Formats: sequence, C-alpha cells, structure tokens
Amino acid sequence: MSKSLASENKWDSVRRYKLTRMINELSGISGHGTELVTVYIPPRRPIYEAIAQLRTEAGTASNIKSDLTRTHVQDALSRTVEQLKLFKETPENGLIIFCGALPTGKGIGTEKIEIFPVLPPKPVQIQLYRCDDHFWTDHLKDMLKDDKAMGLLTIDTQEAGLGVLSGDRWQVEDTLTSGVSGKHRQGGQSARRFERLRDNELNEYYKRIAERAHRILIDQHKVKGLIVGGPGPTKETFLKEEYLDYRLQGNVVAVLDTSYSGEEGVRELVDKVNEEGVMDGYRLMEEKKIVKRFMKEVYSDTGLGIYGINDVIRSLRNGIVDLVIVTDDISVTVVETKCKKCANRDIDIVDRPRLLAARQEFLSSSCKNCGNVDQEIRERDIVEYFEELASSSGAGLEIISGKSEEGAQVSSLGKVGAILRFRPTADQTSSSRY
Ligand SMILES: [Zn+2]
Repeated sequence: MSKSLASENKWDSVRRYKLTRMINELSGISGHGTELVTVYIPPRRPIYEAIAQLRTEAGTASNIKSDLTRTHVQDALSRTVEQLKLFKETPENGLIIFCGALPTGKGIGTEKIEIFPVLPPKPVQIQLYRCDDHFWTDHLKDMLKDDKAMGLLTIDTQEAGLGVLSGDRWQVEDTLTSGVSGKHRQGGQSARRFERLRDNELNEYYKRIAERAHRILIDQHKVKGLIVGGPGPTKETFLKEEYLDYRLQGNVVAVLDTSYSGEEGVRELVDKVNEEGVMDGYRLMEEKKIVKRFMKEVYSDTGLGIYGINDVIRSLRNGIVDLVIVTDDISVTVVETKCKKCANRDIDIVDRPRLLAARQEFLSSSCKNCGNVDQEIRERDIVEYFEELASSSGAGLEIISGKSEEGAQVSSLGKVGAILRFRPTADQTSSSRY
C-alpha cells in the first residue's frame, strides 16, 4: 500500500513548484515601455518559421521612436533567436520563451537582457508573439492546472450517469436506468414481498453500475479518483455497501448533492466540482496521504522518519532516502563554495531574508581546508538542490502546500522531512555535518 503514493510522476510537484516560482517572478516584472517579449511555439510549428517571424518583428522594431525601448526590443529579439537556434527541432510539447530587459535596481538605462526558456508540461495550444509592458504568463499558468482524469458518477434509484473529467474537458460516457418500481406497492402485494423485490432489483442495478464503472472508468480511462453526485441518500447507500471496485471505492474524492442523476446530473456535477474547487482538494488528498505515511514513521520507533534540512541532506548523500517531503513555503538558498586552490567544497544553508548579508560574508570567507580566500560561489534554491541529490540516489521528492493542515505538521518540523529506505547505520548518523 505504501508504495502507491498518489502522484503518478514523482517529479510533478517539483516541476509545478519551480514553474510557479518562475511565473510569480515573471508576472511581477513590468517594462519601461512595451519591450518584454513573449513567444509561445506549439509542437507542430517548425523552429525556423518562428525564427523567421522574430526576424521580421526585429525589422519592424526599428521604427520604435524611443532609443532605449528600441534597443531593448531588438536585443531581446536577437537573444530569443539565439536561444531558438539551440533547438534542432521543436520540442515535444512546444516551447515558451520570455525575454526582456529587466531592471537591475540601478535606474533606467542599466537594465539587463534576461531570457527564460520553458519546456512546458503540456503541449502548447497557441501560437503567440507579444511585445508588451509585461510577460504573457496566463497560458503557462493554465498548463499548471491539474488534469488527472477523474471519474464522475451520478446516481439515484431510477437512473445513473457515468462521465470522465480531465482538466477543462469532460464527457458523459454512459447512462443506465434501474427499472426499479416506485416506492409504492400495487394493490394486493404484501408489503414485505414488495420490499424484498425492490431490494433485489436495486441490488442488481447497483451491481450493473459497478460493472460499467469498472469497464469505463478503470479499464478505458484509468481514472485517479471518483466524484459522486445525485439527489437524496442513494449515493451514500451505494458507497456504504461497497459495490465498486476498490480502486474507485478507495479514491472517492468528493460526494456532492445534485438535483439530477443520469446525464443531466453529470453536467450538474461538473459545475459543482468547478465551483467548489474539488480538484484542488484532490491534490490535498494526495498530500494528506504522503504526510500521514511520513508522520507514522516519525512517531514509530522504526527510525525511518527523519526531518530537518541537515539530516535529510546527509541521508540523501548516503543514498538511504525513499522520499523527501518539502513544504512550498521553505524559502531557503543553498550556497555552495568551492576553493579555487585545493577544490575543497562546502555548503551553507541560508534563509532567503538573510541572503544579501550572507553574500558579503561568503565573499570574504576563506577555505576551511587551506585558508585560501579565493572561492567559487554557487547559489541554488533548496528544492533544486534536493532534486539533484534525490534523482542521483533514486529518491522521490514531493513538494506539498505549507498552508494545509497536513503541510503545517511538516512545516513545524523544519519544512523538510524524509522517509528512509532502511535505518541508518551508526556511521551514517555520525556527528560530521554532511
Ligand atoms: Zn582550499
């Protein structure tokens, strides 16, 4: 059971975290004029075509009156073209590039051209070129929305509907009717016999629903979870009696009241799912499972649940980590120093608010091995650092929300935790820092 942590791809949450950080950074930037370049290239568009278009745009840009803006736009376009030339062909999901002159904080005229190429998580759906006073990040933002396939079931005693929801798309796949007689018996029938017949009919109907759900939702669509709707208590009864395959039964994401069942009910259910943010809730459910598994290890005496940045880094280096868990509010930079004389390496963990001050210290610090002052300094977000250690040792990495009830538990343990594959040896827990 512990093996199937809900995330299908163990790097999904890491990619989302990194892209979200980047989007937040990019959306906060505004240019002096219309000089920030955004390019979306869909998978089927040849690179040379995109390059040709940008060259034409660069020609048009020579008409821009402001010297500074003109220079910025032309520089941004030529940097983008240089970047595109690095690709022999358009990547599988297409390509997105943001490029422009970004403020350095030293005033107008000191801007520096920076480029942010993005290999998108899903195929780019639009072809777009914009030169504006901001970057066009909305389409990329949309790509971060969860689009795992979810099963939809609406049910009452008369009718049932099955559908599939994936991202913004949904479809009704099947409807069934029960043929079950109404609540009122016909004259001459004994009440007991009527009830028994009705129960049998309902039982058969529920079984038929479960069979179709299995075939459509699991065999055909491989859904990750199930959302159930319908008027009245039938849906609860149906779930309580466990007619469904365990893969559906154990992954019910939400049960919502709708006025209809059947096909009309499925439509209504999709609206409710969107209104109530059920899909955000789905990721929270995944995170809940992860944290539950982690906390169980922490509170048991197996020694397999550890926390704190330093302990986790040490265990990753020892190759004994199964899964690293980090909350998305961590805000820590890893500063690596490498002595230019003896190649001695060291790392320091710096809270982001302290980073400016820390940089000064590093510039004047000396090698702990030979005392040389000349050192190479490299800064990285802690998540990127964990990613590198985790992927080279076969560990998983999950970034979870620090705001949720579950995330808060990990947050209080230093925002970083890990589940180990096996208990560390005495040597691996020795006092040396890493
Ligand atoms: Zn040295």
